[in-house]
Amino acid sequence: MRLGERQSLKRAQTAAQKVVDELNDPIDPRHPVSLQRFEAARKKHLTQFMDEWIRCGCRLEGWQFAHVLATVMNRRDLRLDQHRDGPVYPFYISDVTGLGRPRTAASQTFYEFITGPCYASVQRCARCQRFYLNTSGHRDKKYCSRKCATNDSAAKSTRERRQDEHAQKLTALRTAVAKLTRLSKEERTELKDWKSWLSQRSHLTRHFISRAINMGEIDLPVEL
Ligand SMILES: [Zn+2]
Repeated sequence: MRLGERQSLKRAQTAAQKVVDELNDPIDPRHPVSLQRFEAARKKHLTQFMDEWIRCGCRLEGWQFAHVLATVMNRRDLRLDQHRDGPVYPFYISDVTGLGRPRTAASQTFYEFITGPCYASVQRCARCQRFYLNTSGHRDKKYCSRKCATNDSAAKSTRERRQDEHAQKLTALRTAVAKLTRLSKEERTELKDWKSWLSQRSHLTRHFISRAINMGEIDLPVEL
């Protein structure tokens, strides 16, 4: 890789990291209130840009902020520069108008990011929802860190185990209800408390049975 290319890549990585930092960094409460307000607004715009960008698969088609970004960037003062052995590249030195507006600031940052080779490397973690720069080369990476990946799969297996247990309980309850249905009319009339009867047969709590009925998870004989 030539020096110019390396520098371009470095610039693109820096731009992408800057977006990620601005998206993730909490607003510093020690900052003056006016600055905090500015940072919060910039972050809001940037989050909208990025969420929508990811939703569009990092493609301009369908990305609803293309016009906003172009309008903001058209107000910029374009300059040119060149590395010693690299191509000419554009950069923008100041706002001509709209200086210091949160959306302008967000647009500038986002523009630097999507016009570089890292335009598709920012993702949102499936667990903690923080943004991260995916430099692993695997586009289907879902988590920002090993910690999030581990915690998410642990949470998932707990959830799946609970679902399994719940399904087993429902099966036991349905079996008990079927037995109840097979009782003769006389036997059923003698039953003072059919819920306790089901509870004894299925080894489930009355609370579970009530809940299953309320959630429509089991069908009771109409005579009850
Ligand atoms: Zn995460």
